[in-house]
Amino acid sequence: MIPAKFDYVAPASVEDALAALAEHGDDAKIIAGGQSLLPVLRMRLNAPEMVIDLGRIDSLRGIRDDGDSLVIGAMTTHHEVRDSDLVREHALLLSKAAAEVADPQIRHRGTFGGALAHADPAGDLGAPALALGAEFVIAGSGGTRTVAADDFFVDLFETAIGEDEILTEVRVPKHTGWGAHYEKFVRVAHQWPIVAVGAACRTDGGSIAEARIALTNMGSTPLRARGVEEALAGAAATEDGVAAAAARAAEGTNPPSDLNGDADYRRHLAGILTRRAVLAAAGA
Ligand SMILES: Cc1cc2nc3c(=O)[nH]c(=O)nc-3n(C[C@H](O)[C@H](O)[C@H](O)COP(=O)(O)OP(=O)(O)OC[C@H]3O[C@@H](n4cnc5c(N)ncnc54)[C@H](O)[C@@H]3O)c2cc1C
Repeated sequence: MIPAKFDYVAPASVEDALAALAEHGDDAKIIAGGQSLLPVLRMRLNAPEMVIDLGRIDSLRGIRDDGDSLVIGAMTTHHEVRDSDLVREHALLLSKAAAEVADPQIRHRGTFGGALAHADPAGDLGAPALALGAEFVIAGSGGTRTVAADDFFVDLFETAIGEDEILTEVRVPKHTGWGAHYEKFVRVAHQWPIVAVGAACRTDGGSIAEARIALTNMGSTPLRARGVEEALAGAAATEDGVAAAAARAAEGTNPPSDLNGDADYRRHLAGILTRRAVLAAAGA
């Protein structure tokens, strides 16, 4: 289908984009890579009068080292996140998860910030960002504010970003030397996961000193598997040690039931995928 008619601007700065948002209010929609928004417009599920393209704002692109954190610009593509040496060295889980997003065409157009702002519960980047304790920098007419990952994902397709605000960058605390793995279960290749698990582990000798685990599509937002994290602290990095902890993966979750699987099936998957993800992250 062809989208409803809309006006289009492509400002060159965040300030101009915010001014356009303020001017058009509810009638405006931001476009980043367009990989989620364009299908929505084509199906006429949304019909904004003004589309504000962030694609010409250079300051929103790129990945930089900022001491204890990496800073990833909102308009950085999935491909760039996946391919970045900085991300591989300090936030390996994000690199692994970005490699699992859709197909190469979508990874070259879709953006890190767009995916996180879209907040699809089946999106592959929310759980890894949550697991690593990312912080979200959001610009509005009153200046910028920083929101912790625990407070960023509010509900299905809903985040802490206000209608008159723009996500400009994501700060990711460095997890240098941590092993990581993103285990995604799909029915067909290049699609959103039925369930997925992101795991990052710091090992010490033969045991897991610290683990950060988050689940995709086990509720209306990405979820930390805190019970698993607790159980893994000090556990042996062995099949048995990890399996006992992974059995707690579904604690506190509220998975959906749909044609791909019911809630009980997803709970079962969460345990299996957590075990696999942790074993791979711990190099066991
Ligand atoms: C066939 C197909 C398969 C896919 N498979 C997967 C998959 O396996 N895993 C996965 O995770 N994703 C998948 N995706 C989605 C893809 O990752 C998109 O790139 C991503 O969800 C949205 O990023 P975008 O840059 O394209 O955002 P857009 O589509 O441009 O925008 C998405 C939404 O976010 C808002 N937005 C964008 N940027 C900002 C910003 N900086 N500040 C505030 N609001 C903003 C927009 O207004 C819009 O509401 C798939 C998409 C398609 C078409």
